[in-house]
Amino acid sequence: MQYTPGSDNGLGAGNSNGSSFVNRRETRASNDTGMLPVVTTSRNYAGSLDLEKLIAGLKDLFAQDRQMASQQDSTRCGICYMHFTVSELLYREEEGFYVCKGCERALGKTNVPMIRRQQKH
Ligand SMILES: [Zn+2]
Repeated sequence: MQYTPGSDNGLGAGNSNGSSFVNRRETRASNDTGMLPVVTTSRNYAGSLDLEKLIAGLKDLFAQDRQMASQQDSTRCGICYMHFTVSELLYREEEGFYVCKGCERALGKTNVPMIRRQQKH
C-alpha cells in the first residue's frame, strides 16, 4: 500500500484557514527575497555625470525650442524637429519640408524624401 501525502490534508476541519495562511506566507517570502526591487545603479556611476550634463543641455535646448514654438511664424525643421522662424528656414520645394541652417549644411545636396510634406508658410 502506498502512502499519499495529499490524502491526509482533506481530513482536517480547518483546511481553508490553513491554505490562506500558506498563501500569506508565500507572498511575504517572495518579498523577502528582494528579487524585484533590486536596481543596479552602481555600475553607471562613471557615466552619470556626463549624462546629467547631457540632460541639462537637452533641457536648455527644449526650453529654447518651446520659447521659439510659442512665437508667431515659427515652424519646425523637417530634419531635427526644432522650431525656427520661417525666415531662418529654407523650404526645400522638391522634398517639401523646411530645413534649418545646421541641417541644410549637414544635408548638402542629399535628397531626403519625406512621407508627409510640410505645409509651406
Ligand atoms: Zn534642423
